[in-house]
Amino acid sequence: MKHFPTSELLNNLPKQFFASLVKKAGEYIEKGYDVINLGQGNPDQATPQHIVQKMQAAAANPINHKYSPFQGYRYLKQAAADFYQREYNVQINPDKEVAILFGGKAGLVEIPQCLLNPGDTMLVPDPGYPDYLSGVALAKAEMVTMPLLEKNNFLPNLNEIPSDVIERAKLMFLNYPNNPTGATATKEFFEETVQFANQHDICVVHDFAYGAIGFDGDKPLSFLQSEGAKDIGIEIYTLSKTYNMAGWRVGFAVGNSSVISAIELLQDHLYCSIFGGIQEAAAEALTGPQDCVRELVGLYERRRNVLIDGLRSLGWNVTAPKGSFFAWLKVPEGLSSTEFADILLEQAHIVVAPGIAFGELGEGYVRVGLLTSEERLEEAVRRISMLEIFKK
Ligand code: PMP
Repeated sequence: MKHFPTSELLNNLPKQFFASLVKKAGEYIEKGYDVINLGQGNPDQATPQHIVQKMQAAAANPINHKYSPFQGYRYLKQAAADFYQREYNVQINPDKEVAILFGGKAGLVEIPQCLLNPGDTMLVPDPGYPDYLSGVALAKAEMVTMPLLEKNNFLPNLNEIPSDVIERAKLMFLNYPNNPTGATATKEFFEETVQFANQHDICVVHDFAYGAIGFDGDKPLSFLQSEGAKDIGIEIYTLSKTYNMAGWRVGFAVGNSSVISAIELLQDHLYCSIFGGIQEAAAEALTGPQDCVRELVGLYERRRNVLIDGLRSLGWNVTAPKGSFFAWLKVPEGLSSTEFADILLEQAHIVVAPGIAFGELGEGYVRVGLLTSEERLEEAVRRISMLEIFKK
C-alpha cells in the first residue's frame, strides 16, 4: 500500500494530548486494575427523558429525513433567543444573531478561520481548553497567551498584555466558568473586557460551555449581559453539559451579527445543517422544563463537596471550584504535574489530567473531573490517603 504524506496543515496541528491520557489509562484497565477515571470531561449522566422522547418522535417524521436548511431551522434559532431572554434577560434577534453549531468545539475551531488571515494574532488563555489551539493552527494564526493566575482568580490581567500585542490582536478567547481552573468571571471583568475590546478593535469570543454550572447558589454570568458586548463579540453555548447531550453535537453562537454571518458562510461551504431530529430535541431542551438542569448542578455540587472536603481532611490544601465540573488542584511541592499524575495512576489507579496539558501555566496543578459518583470520589480520596503524600 502506498503511504500518502499528509499536508503541512495537518503536520502543523497540535498534538492531541487526551489521546495519550486515554491510552495510558487503558493500559491499566487492561491489566485488570479498577481504574477511577477523573481525567476527562465526558458528562456521565443521561440526556433527560423529555428531550430523548422529542428526538424519538422527530426521527419518525419524514420532514427530518430530508436535508435540513443550510443554516439550521428557524425554530431552533428562536429557541436559542428565548433561552437567552429567559435565562439572562438578553435580547437576541434569531434571524441575525444566532448560528447553529455542531457542538461548541466546531464553532470555536471555525471562528479563527472566519476572522483571521494567516499570521494574524489572537489571544488565548493559559491554561486553557486545548482545542482552542486547533482553531489557531487551522487558521495559520499567531497565538499569544494571556496568563490566568490564581492570585487574579484566574482572570487575565488585560492591562498586562504588551501594547504591541494589543495593537496586532484581532481576536480574544475567554471561557468562564473556566476549564480547567473552575473559576468564574465577575461583572466588572466582563465590563472591562467590553471596553478594552471596543478600544482596540478586538473581537471577543466567550466560550460559555459551562454556563449552567455554578455552585453555592451563584448563577454564572453570560458575557452578553454586559452592556455593549454584542457590539464586540459573541458567546458560544453548547447543550453538551447543560443537558448531558455531549454525544448529540449541538450548540449555537449568539451575538455580533457580522461574526454570526461569517460563521454561517463558512458552514455553508463545510456542511448542511444538523439532523432535524437533533434540532427539534435541542429546541425542546432549551425551552422545555428546566428542573433537570437544577438537579444536575446539585449533583455536581454534592460531588464537589465530597471531593474537596475529603482531600482537605487529608491535609491537601485545595481550592473549591466555583463552577464547571472540574477541580483544579495544586500538586505537592517538588513534583511536576505529570509526575504527580503518574503517581496517582501507578499507585492509586486514579486518572487525572496533568495541568501542563492545558498550557505552560497549568504546570503545578492537576485537573480532576467530577464525572463519577460520590462513592467513587470517596474511594479516590481513600486511595490518595493511603499514599501518605499529605501530612496534616
Ligand atoms: N469549551 C470547553 C471549555 C469545553 O470544555 C468543551 C468540552 N469539553 C467545549 C468547549 C466543547 O464542547 P462541545 O463541543 O461538546 O459543545
